[in-house]
This record gives sequence, C-alpha cells and structure tokens, in this order.
Amino acid sequence: MELDDVDRITVLGAGNMGHGIAEVAALAGYDVVMRDIQEEFVQNGYEQIEWSLDKLAEKDRISEAEADDALDRITPVVDLETAVEDADVIIEAVPEKMEIKKDVYSEVGKYAPEEAIFATNTSSLSITELSEETDRPEQFCGMHFFNPPVRMQLVEVISGAHTDEAVLDLIEDLAESMGKTSVRVHKDSPGFIVNRVLVPLMNEAAWIVEAEDATIEEVDSTTKYGIGLPMGAFELADQVGIDVGYHVLDYMHSELGEAYRPCPLLISKVEKDEIGKKSGKGFYDYEDGGPEIPGDAIRDDVRRRLLAIMANEVAGLIENDVADADAIDEAVMLGAGYPEGPATMADDEGLDTLVETLEELHEQTGEPRYEPTDYLREAADAGGFYVETEPANGESEFETLDVSVEDDVAHVQLDRPHRMNTISEDLLDEFAVAIDELADDDEVRAVLLSGAGDRAFSAGADVQSMATGGSDPLSGVELSKKGQSTFGKLEELDKPVVAAIDGYCIGGGMELATCADFRIASTRSEFGQPEHNLGILPGWGGTQRLTRIVGEGRAKEIIFTADRYDPETLEEYDFLNEVVATERLMDRAFEFAEDMAAGPPIAQKFTKRAIRAGRTDSEAGLEVESQAFGHLMNTDDLMEGVTAFMSDEEPEFEGK
Ligand code: NAD
Repeated sequence: MELDDVDRITVLGAGNMGHGIAEVAALAGYDVVMRDIQEEFVQNGYEQIEWSLDKLAEKDRISEAEADDALDRITPVVDLETAVEDADVIIEAVPEKMEIKKDVYSEVGKYAPEEAIFATNTSSLSITELSEETDRPEQFCGMHFFNPPVRMQLVEVISGAHTDEAVLDLIEDLAESMGKTSVRVHKDSPGFIVNRVLVPLMNEAAWIVEAEDATIEEVDSTTKYGIGLPMGAFELADQVGIDVGYHVLDYMHSELGEAYRPCPLLISKVEKDEIGKKSGKGFYDYEDGGPEIPGDAIRDDVRRRLLAIMANEVAGLIENDVADADAIDEAVMLGAGYPEGPATMADDEGLDTLVETLEELHEQTGEPRYEPTDYLREAADAGGFYVETEPANGESEFETLDVSVEDDVAHVQLDRPHRMNTISEDLLDEFAVAIDELADDDEVRAVLLSGAGDRAFSAGADVQSMATGGSDPLSGVELSKKGQSTFGKLEELDKPVVAAIDGYCIGGGMELATCADFRIASTRSEFGQPEHNLGILPGWGGTQRLTRIVGEGRAKEIIFTADRYDPETLEEYDFLNEVVATERLMDRAFEFAEDMAAGPPIAQKFTKRAIRAGRTDSEAGLEVESQAFGHLMNTDDLMEGVTAFMSDEEPEFEGK
C-alpha cells in the first residue's frame, strides 16, 4: 500500500491520545472513524476534538471552515466491525495493558480488510508480542505519538521483529502527511528512544534524593538551570504522572534488567497515590502552588551524574542498533523539548569525563546502572558520539564545513549536522576563508551550498556559541556586520551559486540562502525568520536581501509574522526557483549546478556584477552592462558560443 491509497483511518480508543490522533488525522484530510467501548466515552472524545478545533480556529491556526471540515470527517463509533471494516490504517490507542491490547487485536483481525495496516500507539509494550496476536505481524508496527498529539511534533515509528520495511515507510509517510516529524526506531526496544532517555533520568534523580546526596530542589535546579532542560526532573515526573513513568520503568526493569530497578522513592509515591499534578500532590504540592525551582541551587556533581546516565542510555540505544546518535538527538529534542539532543550534550561535556563519573559511582555503590556500556567506552575513545571525520585524503582544512570539488562544481556543505548546521562564529570564519579560496580557484565554475545530515540546511545562528561572545550592543553590531559581510562574500562571488535546501532553513540559515543565486528546496523543507519572536531582527542581511528577492510586502510579512513557511508558498513568493521531491533534491541541485558550471564564466561574472551594481543605482548597472558587453566582444567564449550555435552543438566555454 502507498500513501495515496490511504483514505480511511480508524483510531481505536477515544481517550487522551486516541481523540488527539483522530483530530490530527482529520486535519490532514483523512476520513476518520474513532472507536471506544461505550457511547459515552466516544462522545466525550468527540467533544474534546470539537473543543480543540475551536481553540485552533480561535488562535487562527486554522480557519473556521477547516475546523468544521475536520470535525465532519470524524465518525464516532462503538461497534467494532463497523469501525474497522473499511479501514486502510488502524491506529490503536487503548489502555496500556498487554491483556486489553491483545484482546483488541484478536477481535480486530476478524473484521479488518486483509491489506489494512495496524499501528499501535503503545508507549512501552512489545510491538513484536502484540503483532504476533494478529494474523498479519508483517503489517504491524508502532506509531508512537506524544501528548498532546495536536501540539507535539514527534512520532516514533517502531519496527517489530516481523515488520515489513514498506510498512514502516508508509507509516512514516503517513506521519509526515499529518505534519509530524517521524523518527525511525529500528528495534522494538523498551521505552523506544525518548522514554529510554527520560525515564532512567527520572529514576536517577530519585536515587540521588533517596541516597540523600542532594535535595529535590537541588536536582531540579540542576536539571532546569544547570543542564538547561525545559523542566526539573521531578517537576517533569509530576507533570507526566509519577505512575506513568514508574510503569515504563518497571517494564524496562523486567525486560532490560537490574540497571532499571525503580527507586523506592518512586514506588512509595505511587503507593501513596501522590502521583503528581493530576492527584494534587507528587514531589511538589499543587494545592500549595506547585514548584518554585531555585536558579541558584545547581550542583555540578548532580549535573555530571545525570548527564552520565543519559549518555549511557544513548550508547545503549546505538550499541543495540535501535537508533543512531542523530535520530536520538532529533527524537529527544522534538519529543521532550530538549534544547539540544542528549548525544550532543554528552559530547559537549566530554564522554571520557562521563565514563569516569560512571566508573567512580560504580565503584562506590556496585549498582549495575553505573556500569558504562561497551559502546560508551568506545565512543569516548573515539572522541565522542559525533566524531568529525576528516576526508581520506586529509585535504579538508575546515571543522565546520566540508568542501569538495567535482566536475567544475564546488560543493560546500555546512557540516554541523548534530547542531542542525547552525551558524557559529567559527563557521562564519571558515566560510569566509572557503569562499575566498573558491573565488580564486579557476577549476571551480559554480558553487553548490547545502547542509549535512537530513534535518536542516541550517536552523539559524548557533545562539549558544554566540552568547559566549557577550550580549552588549557593540558586540551585537559587530556580530551582525560579520554575518552580513561573510554571507556577502557568497553574494559577491563571480560564479553562480546554487543552494540546495533540505529540512529547516530558518533565521540565519534563510539569510545565508538569500545570498545564493538560485534556491532549490525539497518538499519537506521549512522556512522562517523567527527573529521578531525573540525581540531581535534578522541581522545577517535579512532586511535587505530577502526584500530584494520577494519584494517589500512579502519580506515584511515573513519577518513580522515570524511564521513558518512551506516550500510551495515560498516558490509562489519567488524565493525558491524549484521545489522537488526530497529524494531527488541533491541530484537535481547537482544537475543545476553542473549546468551553471558549463555556462560562459565571463558573461556570468559580469551579469552578476551588473545586477548588483543596478540595485542601488540603475544607471550604474546599465554602465556595467554596456562595458561588459564591449569587453565580451573580445573573448574566445563569444567565438565558441557563436560557432556552437551555428553548428547546433553544445558550447565549451573556457572563460577566456
Ligand atoms: P486513556 O485511558 O486516556 O484512553 C484509552 C481509551 O481506550 C479509553 O477511552 C478506553 O475506554 C478506551 N478503550 C478501552 N478498551 C477499548 C477497546 N477495546 N476498544 C476501543 N477503545 C477502548 O489512555 P491514553 O493516555 O489515551 O493512552 C492510550 C495509549 O496511548 C496507551 O497505549 C498509552 O501508553 C499510549 N500513550 C499515552 C500517552 C500519554 O501521555 N497519555 C503518550 C503516548 C502514548
């Protein structure tokens, strides 16, 4: 089955997750049947969808008509046969109990069409075990949405032991068609990616307090302000429900062993029904106003201990081929709102320091959770989860860029995939050197610019590295000028520049793209100038170069709304020259760049110069144009062009 064949989606369960998934699917244009076991439950879910769609329309995220249409596409149902008999994809979100889910699957198999695909939203149960309850284990996978599905961007798509690759591809496409970002989880491993990182972190936070090594306030101050996570570890446990975290942990304990033994502090909270915000009390008292986490109780030892546990989980996932560092980082950033992924954070801290921390704790306590995994040691020896690989010929002089030349085209790749190719000061410095070198290199006739990895062309300025430079007005001016002039080098290059944009092209990344002569983007790309949301402005040429390309009205719209834009809209705004299917992007961009590289270099150079000169003064532009025209009369390229034209052959320009 291909994505185009999917029209009808059935969601089983109209609870917290079920109704949210049904809403997301209906908003994406699918016909949705939502099923629960009692009229009252399914009606309740339907009303929650209605409420949520109203809210989205109120906030202008969708129009009233879109809200009405989405609701019209949802049919609430109690009878199971009616619910599944015409389904293309069945997404199950019934309670997290193996027995209940197994019962559901044994029934559903009787009525669902043969080709229908089953996807479970389970947070922790074994996908393989559930799939074996059906007559189609190869058409079964995990599709793990996060709460609330309408707001959360991530969907983990999990393979069971029997799942067909094509089914995983389809479910990933389905998630993306719902506007989500999918991350592939290659193995059915407890907690998948996000919970596998978050839940042991919660457990370790509890062990630290249990051992009286630090207080709840100190641990939360450290997690929130020392590590920079969106919430304190205990604050998050209260928010999600200590019982929810505990159940996942308990399952990990039974499947993965002693390293995941739940801390008695968690057990006692669950036993006392002090399970967090929803019960009025958890680690904090919510009748008393909830947590106030101090910013000044950060403990360095706690910080290292939590990072070490997190790094060990990342290593475990990589070692067992569940996911690679890139996927883990993306999943945790999107699924848990981390400012950076755990692999990147661990690399920044230094894996050897974290291995040492674990070894010390292991020696002191003998606890298996402190035993570094083999892969963590290996990665520490190699210098990190992300090791900057030098090309085999050892030619690259850059850390943040990868520059290679082939067939007259220089390919400049922003090479910080673990940081979504964000632009640091180092990158700016290296970029300036690289462009100067390419300008002088006669072998290079066109430049192709792209971002490494599959997440971003560039997600903007690397705010973290910039912040260390101070935030006073003078250094702000300097930073803006530096970006303007560095990007300007690309704009002023006499050779044609093509930007191949895949993934996020945001803020400074979008400003960089404006310096290319041509922009080609993949369909999954996302654009925006979010600076106004931060109370700043696009300071790397955004107010000028963007305006020249899309006109003042559109540039103001893009900058003032600070909205995200899809590639189709930006193609309409003339920002993009072409939008192509994601898998075709690099082929098409190379083809385009090679075409440019075959053009007449002198004529290209003067055309760019004349256009630039005419921006401020059209007389000056015309003057450059006529002088250049005269100059070209004396070139071999002209002879070559005319001869080729007469004999109907392709010209071979040499720039002479
Ligand atoms: P919930 O208790 O809010 O909803 C479950 C719903 O399923 C209830 O309305 C229940 O009446 C209904 N149900 C029970 N038996 C059914 C059946 N045979 N057919 C159809 N419906 C049936 O639970 P939830 O929080 O929505 O969780 C559902 C699933 O999603 C679980 O597997 C859970 O692990 C997973 N999940 C939950 C979250 C979360 O934060 N709540 C996040 C991700 C995944």
